[in-house]
Amino acid sequence: MRRLALSVLLLLLLSGCGGQMSPDEAQESIQVLAMDTAMLITTYGERSPAAAYACEDTIRDLEKQLSRTDPDSEVSRLNAAGGEAVEVGEDLYILLHEAACLSAETRGAFDVTVAPVVSAWGFTEDSFRVPSQAELDGLLKLVDYNAVYDRYLPTADPRAAAIGPGQAIDLGGVAKGYAADKIVKVLQEHEVPRANINLGGNVLAYGDRPDGTPWRVGIQDPARVDEQNAFAGVLALTDSFAVTSGGYQRYFEQDGKTYHHIIDPATGYPADSGLTSVTVVAPALEGFLNGTMCDAYSTALFVMGEEQALDFWRDRSAGVFELVLVTEDGRVVVTEGLADRFTLDESSGYTLEVASR
Ligand code: ADP
Ligand code: MG
Repeated sequence: MRRLALSVLLLLLLSGCGGQMSPDEAQESIQVLAMDTAMLITTYGERSPAAAYACEDTIRDLEKQLSRTDPDSEVSRLNAAGGEAVEVGEDLYILLHEAACLSAETRGAFDVTVAPVVSAWGFTEDSFRVPSQAELDGLLKLVDYNAVYDRYLPTADPRAAAIGPGQAIDLGGVAKGYAADKIVKVLQEHEVPRANINLGGNVLAYGDRPDGTPWRVGIQDPARVDEQNAFAGVLALTDSFAVTSGGYQRYFEQDGKTYHHIIDPATGYPADSGLTSVTVVAPALEGFLNGTMCDAYSTALFVMGEEQALDFWRDRSAGVFELVLVTEDGRVVVTEGLADRFTLDESSGYTLEVASR
């Protein structure tokens, strides 16, 4: 019912604008509640309804495999296997390998094995608590992506995966990015000319807008999360992923302190690096896992902080990815590749800085 109501509403809005609907401007918009967030999928073109529902199917199918709260998911079976190899499907096989590589590349700022610590803080089951240092010290011994990486060497059975005894994996920091990667393929298969896919902080700006201008992707102002449409700035993007991680997305308060869901695997505590959000932008290309990369990087660079994040960016070739960092001390730092695509929201009060190579 919700789907129906939304598409009717959008159609009304469209005709209300007085626009002529040419066949390729047909549009479908659906809301999907999955992966612990509200998603909005808007597709265009003659096959837009089929495309939008195929995107939803892709997301639901992935959630079924990757959820940590569903005891029947593949991830739950792997986490419960006590170090034994288990048979997994193609998606988990690919994503686990990718996540292990991204863990190594970010030197564990993103760590796919951080699950036991995330759970200790209650972020998995929404039963929030502050664990003792002794408890964290014990759990941190299990956090080591190398165990996954090492065990992942090609085996006789290419669909087997294993993690170390006592370890658990959490793909919450990459699952939406991987879903966005798969959605690029779905959109191409349905010959969708343009689409705007928002998977809760993970945006895919596919093609351009119906009027030929780039999609406008607002970056939430972390200091004004209670206000809708309170942006630090807006990005003009075509065929790009834009993935944001911030401490404001999921948190709890205890004794006047705020604890958020992005854990620094070096301390076991929520990351406290001076950044309030990190947005990673990269080209959306079929056959690459750039959505997954953006998602892992946004989490990792939020943990690293400004200086290390910019070093990480400078270490990679131009065009691989770009950044928008929002800092606790009131600055927005944009890497030079985005300088002419980013507009600061003047009412936000931030000062804009452009980082060069
Ligand atoms: P969101 O899922 O809110 O968009 P992120 O992509 O940054 O935000 O992912 C945060 C999720 O990733 C957490 O909810 C947790 O499940 C997991 N996580 C938290 N810290 C880390 C970390 N350092 N490395 C890998 N995964 C993490
Ligand atoms: Mg992420």
